[in-house]
Amino acid sequence: MLYIHIPFCQQRCIYCDFYSTTQSIDKALAYVHAAENEMRHRSKELPTTQLSSVYIGGGTPSLLPHEAIRQLFSAVRTNFTLSEGAEITFEANPDDITPELIDVLISVGVNRISLGVQSFNDQQLQLLRRRHTANQAIEAVHLIHRKGIPHISIDLIYGQPQQTLASWDNDLNTALSLPVDHLSAYALSVEEATPLQRLIKNQTLSLPSDETTWHMYQHLCEATRKHGFLHYEISNFCLPNAHSRHNSGYWQSRPYLGIGPGAHSYDGASRHFNPLNLQDYINKQGITHRTTEVLSEAEQCNEFVFTALRTSNGLNMDEFEKRFGSKPASNIRTWAQPHIQNGNLSLTERTLCLTETGIFVSNDVLSDLMHV
Ligand code: SF4
Repeated sequence: MLYIHIPFCQQRCIYCDFYSTTQSIDKALAYVHAAENEMRHRSKELPTTQLSSVYIGGGTPSLLPHEAIRQLFSAVRTNFTLSEGAEITFEANPDDITPELIDVLISVGVNRISLGVQSFNDQQLQLLRRRHTANQAIEAVHLIHRKGIPHISIDLIYGQPQQTLASWDNDLNTALSLPVDHLSAYALSVEEATPLQRLIKNQTLSLPSDETTWHMYQHLCEATRKHGFLHYEISNFCLPNAHSRHNSGYWQSRPYLGIGPGAHSYDGASRHFNPLNLQDYINKQGITHRTTEVLSEAEQCNEFVFTALRTSNGLNMDEFEKRFGSKPASNIRTWAQPHIQNGNLSLTERTLCLTETGIFVSNDVLSDLMHV
């Protein structure tokens, strides 16, 4: 699994804490050159150079000049082999979608586009400081579909400031009327040091009540179910066989390589973090000083529980016990008991799963199952 971070945005959305810069798109080619060098140096860190998935995320990959996109994929194919039917996802902003861009993406093998829609309400979009309109998002989905990209995912956010239940229902109805096979719907989280946090602190903006957000989540579950979507991860819904294979790999704790400033990699026992500095990354041709975190046994155990419970497959207690021993398994059973009783977790055939209610309070449930 390969992730490539594209650290450019045209403007910053108020809620976002991902690493990106709004100043340096003119450095795109130099950046891709550095990323190519990092791929060359680090490709052997993966257990195999055969990739089942590639994910180009950001930032805003769709801001890259077409020449840079071609160069990036040429570097991927020089340093790795793509498995037959590999999933190749490219994140895009709706207003960047043009017939020419899609032609380029098809020519380099992209078979899945993830669109950052977030809302189909123009007022909400302006408030979040997104640069597209609802109509642009709708047209972008239809254009991608007409051009024949087989998989389209859209991102939505609920629990936004000033968002009403009626507005969210409209977002859901619009999203589910489009030819998409995957929906990522996130409950808004207010991240440290973002403009959103400041605006909420100084009371310029306010969030919907917990009760409204709960109803938004319920409507999300009902509407997606009605349209045949499976709720296969806390925030992810898909038509049968259209789950994100790349993200599922993260939730199965599979090794991955992350390329670019701010990207991280995982080799099964430790995690490496690239520093958040585009200029340094370009100057050093992608070989910057990474921070490494070696996961202790307890941390690996936590990670296993955390990632397994995120998905509808749940935590297989036999597998867990085989890997971590009977004491941690017995602890998990004890800690899970109150949540099984109050309906946040279910235990069937030795598999522990978050229920639909439990997903809404998953942070609390998961933290109760973590080793200290
Ligand atoms: S949400 Fe996406 S487009 Fe907005 S600032 Fe973050 S990375 Fe950039």
